[in-house]
Amino acid sequence: MEPKEKLEEKPLDFIRQIIAEDLETGKHATPVTRFPPEPNGFLHIGHAKSICLNFGIAVENNAICHMRFDDTNPSKEETKYVESIQQDVKWLGFDWGNHLYFASDYFEKLYEYAVQLIKTGKAYVCDLTGDEIRQYRGTLTEPGKESPYRNRSIEENLELFEGMKAGEYPDGSRVLRAKIDMASPNLNMRDPVIYRILKTDHHRTGDTWCIYPMYDYTHCLSDMIEGITHSLCTLEFEDHRPLYDWVLDTLETPCHPRQIEFARLNLTYTVMSKRKLLQLVNENYVEGWDDPRMLTISGLRRRGYTPESIRNFCSTIGVGKKSSWIDMGVLEKSIRDDLDPKAERVMCVLDPLKVIIDNYPEDLVEMVTAKNHPKNPEMGTRELPFTRELYIERSDFMEEPPRKFHRLGPGREVRLRYGYLITCVSYDKDEEGNITAIHCTYDPETKGGSAPDGRKVKGTIHWVSADKSVDCQVRLYDRLFNHENPDADKEVSFLEHLNPDSKVVIEHAKAEASLAEIAPGRQVQFERTGYFSADPIDSQPGKPAFNRIVTLRDSWAKAQQKG
Ligand code: ATP
Ligand code: MG
Repeated sequence: MEPKEKLEEKPLDFIRQIIAEDLETGKHATPVTRFPPEPNGFLHIGHAKSICLNFGIAVENNAICHMRFDDTNPSKEETKYVESIQQDVKWLGFDWGNHLYFASDYFEKLYEYAVQLIKTGKAYVCDLTGDEIRQYRGTLTEPGKESPYRNRSIEENLELFEGMKAGEYPDGSRVLRAKIDMASPNLNMRDPVIYRILKTDHHRTGDTWCIYPMYDYTHCLSDMIEGITHSLCTLEFEDHRPLYDWVLDTLETPCHPRQIEFARLNLTYTVMSKRKLLQLVNENYVEGWDDPRMLTISGLRRRGYTPESIRNFCSTIGVGKKSSWIDMGVLEKSIRDDLDPKAERVMCVLDPLKVIIDNYPEDLVEMVTAKNHPKNPEMGTRELPFTRELYIERSDFMEEPPRKFHRLGPGREVRLRYGYLITCVSYDKDEEGNITAIHCTYDPETKGGSAPDGRKVKGTIHWVSADKSVDCQVRLYDRLFNHENPDADKEVSFLEHLNPDSKVVIEHAKAEASLAEIAPGRQVQFERTGYFSADPIDSQPGKPAFNRIVTLRDSWAKAQQKG
């Protein structure tokens, strides 16, 4: 990524301030951060916040951010997630060089550290069941009770732990626990479990292990092994920090990374938990992790979001210590802002209504010149064929238009963008009363759209030639949920708030012919209707398929104001 993006002067967030101080005092010569996803799902926009923070700090300091898979739970993790996560981080524009790590690479070391804890009397094998452990743990107001196995001898613990590793005991029969303080006001410090038995193959280590280390124990040691200086995580880990520090202090490790917590991203009109995203996928509420309505990185990419827009979004929302909500409109604005100066303007009629220009010669094809961008002449022009039969949007014609309707109606004149002024003279209807075509006359003196006599024509509409356009599929995507916080009410499933109109498919929209061979993934603005991108998978040469990325204006904000 180009470092120039960061140069836009903004006060440093509290994490960057801490890092700047640590560099100034010489505590560290260079920061080392990491992004530690668990490969149990696809990355979402919340992860983008963490990616932009951790990799962003590296870019700004000419330093390194490690890509580390936190793969300690083989029952939920899969190689396909490992691959998609790497693809997504790269697509966002970041690079970990050769610093790709897996917590599972440290299983042997982590085991040795556990043995060391046992040897110093700081860990013990406990035979209580999961339920019993929970009961013994106590509550926020009541201290916990010590496990009857807490005072096993070091020898017995070593033997039992070795037996756990050798597969001698069934799943769930024993765990290894850190011996800390059952009366601690912090529940995480009440002898937390650090190893469990799980006879499940791991996507990388296969059947080598049947005991797996727990997250809290693994994370601090992985950070330490890699020489991470600042371990950035979300606020819910604040109460885990004493345990993070305890493990490293107790093992007297050669380095001790500093854990700093920041507020996670909460976005309105979506759910963010991987479990819920997985449910949407598995129960077919969406068409996969990369469904363009999903707030996953792969969904956003498929929808047509650019990496720049997501990075800018993350920079706009900043990094703070207090949890807060960001309106979906902020994300949508970031893609509008990114595409506005660079997306080519083109014309596509979504709901075609035929226009026949009665006084235009049947075989005549004139070329009219259209600007590719209204404000950026460097983006050039293109020639559009103007013919006797055209398509316009059905909504641009009304049989009995009100006075303020500046588009077509009987006897009304309108400007065809870059074409001629036309006036409606009549219209055809089928037996059911549907309008099938409208007849107009054109003024040959108005090529390009202005009248030499200076008469005012307020409305300008888009159009395409009827036989020199390309048929295309257009998917009008909208927010997946129609509720600000689909998760708010614990009595009502978030699925109740799915927006039934989140995907509307138009099979036969008519686009100008220049779009027939549009490159998959490319973004354009359809004049007057929104930003669209050619779907990377479904768009074919000669038969393009478009995804609406975003409308030109935030219609949700308006709807909310109206109540
Ligand atoms: P989920 O709760 O959705 O399953 P997770 O936090 O368990 O997500 P991980 O794969 O462990 O998912 O996350 C990798 C990193 O991304 C972690 O450092 C985590 O703190 C960060 N992260 C996850 N969700 C968000 C979010 N909404 N905002 C900011 N950072 C996030
Ligand atoms: Mg996690």
